[in-house]
Amino acid sequence: MSSSDKRLVLVSACLLGRSCRYDGAHNRDGALERELAEQRLQAIAFCPEEHGQLGTPRPAAWIESHSAAAVVDGADRVVTHAGHDVTAAFVRGAQGALETCKTHAIRLALLKERSPSCGVRQTHVGGRLVDGPGVTAELLRREGIEVRGVEGRRA
Ligand code: SF4
Repeated sequence: MSSSDKRLVLVSACLLGRSCRYDGAHNRDGALERELAEQRLQAIAFCPEEHGQLGTPRPAAWIESHSAAAVVDGADRVVTHAGHDVTAAFVRGAQGALETCKTHAIRLALLKERSPSCGVRQTHVGGRLVDGPGVTAELLRREGIEVRGVEGRRA
């Protein structure tokens, strides 16, 4: 089968082994790689925070007060643990993910759980792990793209 026979999906780059986490590590997930092959999915790796030009390594960050929805609506911020405002970079990263999906007609994104960008079921707000998506997952979902959370680091 050629790669053109496969359906394209957006995947958090750290899940595919790119060392783009805030601490310079990755979350390579062997189970995900097998699922991609079995389901004939062709991954396009994307890291919203690198796209937002935050660099790697970078200070860890979280949503400041409420939710990713509030960030996308301009009613909340993303801040580093030291309180530096990185909202614009996170929103730029989410918009880059959306543009990539539109460019390649991608309808499914597989994203790293608990990240303030990529988290799907859980993310970090104000220093706590809470139910709700990160900024990129929120924007993609609003635009009708299915988002699924992936744990990462599975054998
Ligand atoms: S979770 Fe998302 S933003 Fe964080 S390193 Fe992985 S791809 Fe980048």
